[in-house]
Amino acid sequence: MSFKHTVSGLILAGGRATRMGRVDKGLQPFRGMAMVAHVLQRLAPQVAGVAINANRNLPAYESYCTPVWPDELSGFEGPLAGLQTGLRHCDTPLLLTVPCDSPFLPDDLAARLHQALSEQDADLAVAVTMEVDESGQLRRQVHPVFSLLKTSLLPQLSAYLDSGNRRMDGWYGAIRVAEVLFDDAAAFRNINTLGELQQYEHGAPANAPTLAQVVGCLADYDPEALPVRHAQRIIGEFITPIEAVEQLALRSALDRVLAADIVSPISVPAHDNSAMDGYALRGADLPGDAPVTYSVVGTILAGRPHALTVGPGQCVRIMTGGVMPDGCDTVLPQELAALINDAGVTIAPGVIRAGDNRRFKGEDLMAGTPALKRGKIIRPADLGLIASLGLAEVAVRRRLRVAFFSTGDELRSIGQPLAAGCVYDSNRYTIYGMLQRLGCEVIDMGIVKDDPAALEAALRSACENADAIVTSGGVSVGAADYTKQIMAALGDVTFWKIGMRPGRPLAFGKIHSNQHSAFLFGLPGNPVAVMVSFYFFARAALLRMMGAEAPLPLLRVRSSTAIRKKPGRTEYQRGILGTDADGRPQVGITGSQGSGILRSMSEANCMVVLHDEQGNVAAGDLVDVVLFDGLV
Ligand code: AMP
Ligand code: MG
Repeated sequence: MSFKHTVSGLILAGGRATRMGRVDKGLQPFRGMAMVAHVLQRLAPQVAGVAINANRNLPAYESYCTPVWPDELSGFEGPLAGLQTGLRHCDTPLLLTVPCDSPFLPDDLAARLHQALSEQDADLAVAVTMEVDESGQLRRQVHPVFSLLKTSLLPQLSAYLDSGNRRMDGWYGAIRVAEVLFDDAAAFRNINTLGELQQYEHGAPANAPTLAQVVGCLADYDPEALPVRHAQRIIGEFITPIEAVEQLALRSALDRVLAADIVSPISVPAHDNSAMDGYALRGADLPGDAPVTYSVVGTILAGRPHALTVGPGQCVRIMTGGVMPDGCDTVLPQELAALINDAGVTIAPGVIRAGDNRRFKGEDLMAGTPALKRGKIIRPADLGLIASLGLAEVAVRRRLRVAFFSTGDELRSIGQPLAAGCVYDSNRYTIYGMLQRLGCEVIDMGIVKDDPAALEAALRSACENADAIVTSGGVSVGAADYTKQIMAALGDVTFWKIGMRPGRPLAFGKIHSNQHSAFLFGLPGNPVAVMVSFYFFARAALLRMMGAEAPLPLLRVRSSTAIRKKPGRTEYQRGILGTDADGRPQVGITGSQGSGILRSMSEANCMVVLHDEQGNVAAGDLVDVVLFDGLV
């Protein structure tokens, strides 16, 4: 049975709003209606009924057809006073409180808090999120005004307030509190200042630059002939990362982006230990000119505590990983012993040096030092490293949502018959694959016809559901379609001709729809051009949006053939990296480099990057190469 009828909602609007210049926060207009109306809209479906706690402008609040209760305690105007009032009027066993300045509150707030309350048999359940602070550290943020509590707590709360206490956290000490971790910190944002209000009103941070401001910094900006590196720089400066963080079980974090530095809580290894199976002894006690026999005073196994001490002329049998006894700094591998018998272990002069075969405490990781930096994409080695610290969960950025579609009247989807003059839509498959490899959450929006209404609807829907949009086709010069017009109408979008081959036309910017915004990458239509443009523009930008640090390494390799190349543009040629007759690495280019020839993209295993200023390449010259696949 649903719990909904057991919960009343209370919107806390009784505060003084000192940071908003003492205006009544709940009544501030925001995106077309008062802030409290947004909260009401999200809260009402989750509970049996909603009331508002307010101390000023009561008629305005009453116009929402909801009971309005002012504080009973005079002059305090803090959340606990509002809560006390709410509890006194509450006619259900549970009360859910939310602040009046939280227009993004989660739709499942009541459900999740209720579940935790009953599962943990708590008095109060409160929302918690993980947030990254300015220094990159992950902090647990408790949101005390987003809480579900038992109405029966009223006498306890009144007693607490009567004794002069006013602090929320102090009261928590006296009751059973269940904390509920929510993934999306953004849903708990509250709007405290008029500046923040304006910022959210326009859907973008108030200080985010426009494209015109970004390109204004380039001395010789020419959208009709833009060098690749300029386009890359403009995109990099315009893009902003998503901030939401989620806490995941370790294995689920593979390929995700670390949201905060991981500081090692322990030293790994925790003790000096042996790197070999052998005999531990004091380095100062090693043989001089003649062999020495050491008596064996015990055995140390890995993972077994011991209190062995070793004196001069003595040694201890030790296994790999065994904790070094006090005073010992050297391990003789057993295969290097001159003789092992009942009398002990004989070591010949010079076979080892003091300090050999000992691993130091903390040589892998020292307690208190950063083990992994935020922005790292978590690879198998990182999973192991995090496990070696004993951490079961990690904070990662939310997955980036990317919507994509193809444009063109000539396109057909697989499964449809191919009419004369038509082609199958292949770009949607390459784009799908490339986005998946980057770890994005993909939204495939299919083929969109060259029709203004259809294009606008597709771009708006993409914008409202995704962080970024990738389209193909319709951005080239003289394209007989509306793609460019509609893109430009929906936001801050620019159209470039880039000095490159394949690929040249590119649309880039940010579009807006119904208070949502998304970065837009309008890639060219030709199947190879779309991939090259994705790899050399969209890829880095999407990674930056994910908060990832993942520079692309370039290799210098000998070219097996001559390559014709015009200076003044960047060429990306499809290459096959292999070895010559002597086993040295070399790269050759696949046959035709036409921008529609996808087969040669599929045959290639790398891209040969021929930079702007570069001219013809002679056989044997070194060229830059980017590999398609790596080891991990
Ligand atoms: P456009 O930039 O729209 O003029 O497209 C350039 C070329 O790419 C045309 O020959 C299109 O047919 C082709 N093309 C565009 N989109 C796709 C797609 N999704 N799949 C395959 N080819 C495409
Ligand atoms: Mg087209």
